[in-house]
Amino acid sequence: MNAIAPAIVILGAGALDTARRIQARYPGAQVHGLSGRVDADVAYTELNAHLRDLYRRGTPLVALCAAGIVIRCLAPLLADKGTEPPVLAVAEDGSAVVPLLGGLAGVNRMAREIADALDVTPAITTSGELRFGTCVLNPPDGYALSSLAQGKRFVSDLLAGESTRIEGEAPWLDNAQLPRSADARLAIRVTPQAWNGSTDELLIHPRSVVAAIGDLDEDIAGHVQGALSANGIATLALAALLAPVERAGEAALTEAAATLGVALRFVATPATASEARKPHALISTAMRVPHEILAGDTPVALALARAPVDPSSVGQARGRLCVIGLGPGDARLLVPAAREALDAATDVLGYETYVTMAGPFRADQRVHGTDNREEMQRARHAFELAAGGASVVMVSSGDPGVFAMAAAVLEALHESGNARWASVELEILPGVSAAMATAAQAGAPLGHDFCMLSLSDNLKPWDVIENRLRHAASADLVMAFYNPVSRARPWQLDRALDIVREFRAPETTVVLGRDVGRPGGAVRHTSLGELRSDMVDMRTMVIIGSSLTRAFSVDGKVEWVYTPRWYRPL
Ligand code: SAH
Repeated sequence: MNAIAPAIVILGAGALDTARRIQARYPGAQVHGLSGRVDADVAYTELNAHLRDLYRRGTPLVALCAAGIVIRCLAPLLADKGTEPPVLAVAEDGSAVVPLLGGLAGVNRMAREIADALDVTPAITTSGELRFGTCVLNPPDGYALSSLAQGKRFVSDLLAGESTRIEGEAPWLDNAQLPRSADARLAIRVTPQAWNGSTDELLIHPRSVVAAIGDLDEDIAGHVQGALSANGIATLALAALLAPVERAGEAALTEAAATLGVALRFVATPATASEARKPHALISTAMRVPHEILAGDTPVALALARAPVDPSSVGQARGRLCVIGLGPGDARLLVPAAREALDAATDVLGYETYVTMAGPFRADQRVHGTDNREEMQRARHAFELAAGGASVVMVSSGDPGVFAMAAAVLEALHESGNARWASVELEILPGVSAAMATAAQAGAPLGHDFCMLSLSDNLKPWDVIENRLRHAASADLVMAFYNPVSRARPWQLDRALDIVREFRAPETTVVLGRDVGRPGGAVRHTSLGELRSDMVDMRTMVIIGSSLTRAFSVDGKVEWVYTPRWYRPL
């Protein structure tokens, strides 16, 4: 029932082996290691704070440490039993698997899965589960328990010796050791119908109903609930809310789906044909399983399938386009949100070199590497994929907004006027730009006002560059030069330096960062007088200091460059 990948938390290298075996069982799971003690996928600094943080976020927890540690740590947070994630303690050597919390979130199932992966017997302590071989209150994905309170009464009646009938399709109970009898007072009833008032039943709803809306934009959840109850269907039997894809960006839809507790899915419809946007037409376009239409057309159509409907099989998700920067190259300088976006991506786009840097990727992720020059085309391709429901990540180096893809992506969207593109969930995540990465290694040359300039005249005329250089140099701004030279632009840097030298003394501090954060990368210091263009190439960041930028060395060894926070006019 829990789609979120668990966090596998370890304290030391001794647990790493067991952690990796558990990880192999759960796609997307990460091993969290105590910083300084063990290198894993995610580093944390304090166990208690980290466990609590994960628990509060609802992340399933597999802690490879003493059960007591976990209990003591989470005890203050155990107020609401209904919503807790599964929490398990596992012995470091893999010899014991102890489900602790999250009975209704499938902790016993996880315990069995992990125990199976480790080839041991799980320490299951739930009496109903031990007796019947399954937790009847925790039906599998695609089914929902109608009422927990009623369910608990039902299980204690069974434990007290009563038997039960099963009405409806409950394939997961086929092998359960339930005391069954055809004329039992108690019944497990599996049906999309709402509760009929009977107290002798354990009512379980298959999530087998899809509700579609067309242009309805007021009180969406209320209308859907109205249609369900008019047809005697339980709200918990709803699997998905379906709407035209152009509406994917509307907050009212997200809210309605959250209120109803279901997935939100979309259908592409021909924009002109109003018939095709009618709710029942959306259903016939999007639903691939046999179903019966329960409610007509205004304003909600309901489709009832014979078995639970997997929401991901209905229409498409809202597409997503996330524009990220990889930072200079060092994986530690990639922001965690960008890492998450890469992990969640179905499609990754970008210049070959950067896409390779962002990998490795899973077999289910499509990678579209392209030539560096085709920026606008690549941006449009990203929108096309996302509009079809993909989760696309566009990769740049450094920061995506600094001489990189974010602006191209926005320009493509701005120019297109395409409603499907506009409905894509667009996010731009910052990255560590080459100027920041170079500056940090040198010290703090950007400690006061500075500007970033690209010396490439591919996308702007050279006289604009000269004019900007003059103004920046005369304003005594520190300058960070991106794209300083290339084979196709051999003379531009010398010309730029000539201009800067008109305004700044030969002693002016200069920092050169080449391949910063990448293998073989280096940062060195020189002066404007000594700087020659053959010290610089396309993979270099050039930082020209202001009149106040200075360098000093500690013990004659480490040399630091900084620009003070204050400014004294020359
Ligand atoms: N979006 C990128 C910049 C792209 S422009 C960023 O924010 O960093 C490409 C230029 O950035 C290169 O010509 C070089 O001047 C600089 N650059 C990019 N990565 C670099 C690195 N690791 N080390 C030094 N300079 C780099």
